[in-house]
Amino acid sequence: MDEKPPFSAIYELKEELGKGAFSIVKRCEHKVTGKQYAAKIINKRRLTARDMRKLEKEERICRHLKHANIVQLHDSLNDDNHHYLVFDMVTGGELFDEIVAREFYSERDASSCMQQVLESVEYCHQKNIIHRDLKPENLLLSSKTKDAIVKLADFGLAVELDGSNQSTWHGFAGTPGYLSPEVLKRAPYHTPVDVWACGVILYILLVGYPPFWDESQEKLYAQIKSARFDFPSPEWDTVSNEVKQLIRDMLNPDPSKRITASQALLNPWISQRQKVAKTIHRQATLAGLKKFNARRKLKGAILTTMMATSALNLLKSRNSDTELKTPPAEASTPTGNSRECEEAAIETIYEDTQEKELLGRTKALMEAVTARDYQAFRKLCSSELLTFCKEGGTQLLQGLEFSKWTLANTPEYEAESTMMMSPKVQILGDDSAVVAYVSFSRALDKSGVMTTVESKETRVWSRRKGAWLCVHAHTS
Ligand code: ADP
Ligand code: MG
Repeated sequence: MDEKPPFSAIYELKEELGKGAFSIVKRCEHKVTGKQYAAKIINKRRLTARDMRKLEKEERICRHLKHANIVQLHDSLNDDNHHYLVFDMVTGGELFDEIVAREFYSERDASSCMQQVLESVEYCHQKNIIHRDLKPENLLLSSKTKDAIVKLADFGLAVELDGSNQSTWHGFAGTPGYLSPEVLKRAPYHTPVDVWACGVILYILLVGYPPFWDESQEKLYAQIKSARFDFPSPEWDTVSNEVKQLIRDMLNPDPSKRITASQALLNPWISQRQKVAKTIHRQATLAGLKKFNARRKLKGAILTTMMATSALNLLKSRNSDTELKTPPAEASTPTGNSRECEEAAIETIYEDTQEKELLGRTKALMEAVTARDYQAFRKLCSSELLTFCKEGGTQLLQGLEFSKWTLANTPEYEAESTMMMSPKVQILGDDSAVVAYVSFSRALDKSGVMTTVESKETRVWSRRKGAWLCVHAHTS
């Protein structure tokens, strides 16, 4: 990656196409071929190590995917301050914006859109990827022509699975109205979360409003968890029963009973739409979608501004103990009134990776101690580290000299392995956190007998210039 020429040597940047929390997407032109691309530009200076890993993950996932209904990653480049993900340009804008400009729109059109979305989702799932942020904003169109195809974009929240069918907790992430019951219940989850989001999208495609909605996020989440939705009269009276059943199958609250993307593609309303999907024009749906789009754009605009300055606050709120609380953005709104805060709640929630990173660094620190690796230890600690430990007696030790000495001079206590039990991460602020856990080390004692040493440890972490450093350790 590093031996490549810088971005600016190959491409010329043009106007902005879109904006997210961590990135700006701009049109760019290849200087030699004149071909158009969309560059997702990330300012590296504003990224923490964790954000950097997320970016690398997005790139790795995108590079892995090649499908007609997915925006294609073309290249990835660096310069001093920025990272660029260069995608093939799609020029049709967002699917939902195009739909409302149509003069005629029927179930059959909705079926065609949903088929393409499901094709992209089926492919991702076959490739062991969960997208996790399926929603209208991330459904683009390849061109402005009538035969344009739907392209799924934005793998910024996607996760890579290990290939097993085992559900796992991958963190709380997604966009409120599209979150599945299992994610809201903080249960292990798997690819069915994407099918749930497809069900929400299909519902909106048919009537122009979402199946679950409430101004209060708490009530919204309660509706979703119990899968409480209906097909109100009169707008649903004209919708075919086949697609109603398909929606019920996609919005099944039990992920193990939920239809899969592949099964949904075989549903006659999708696979034989010429025969099954109705062709009556749905004017009220277009009107509903117009309002839905307008609301979405407003929320997006408010949130983008807020997130640019306070993505961290968002993470912080997500890290607290319960998901049933006021919208995360609220605490950090600089000027917005409460209605704007509620509106902002619709946008993407980034997973609670802060906790993961802190646990990772704590584990790395334990490993450094186990391996008696002072260099690795030093990189994870502040030079002013304060330590309370058995070896130090009643003294509070400051600095790294003591640790350096112990690591070098107590090889007889060298542990074979160290395990972290029941760790707890408590976020104290944007830049500080406490990690407490029980450490079990298996070690040979002086007489050569394998023993297990238990110690209770608390570490205080502080973020300095983007990196978490341990500033205090207390072991007993
Ligand atoms: P974020 O993670 O910040 O939401 P996205 O990948 O969703 O970033 O891109 C943000 C916006 O940029 C999209 O909503 C879309 O408007 C535009 N965009 C993204 N990829 C392309 C592309 N390949 N061609 C044209 N526009 C794009
Ligand atoms: Mg996006």
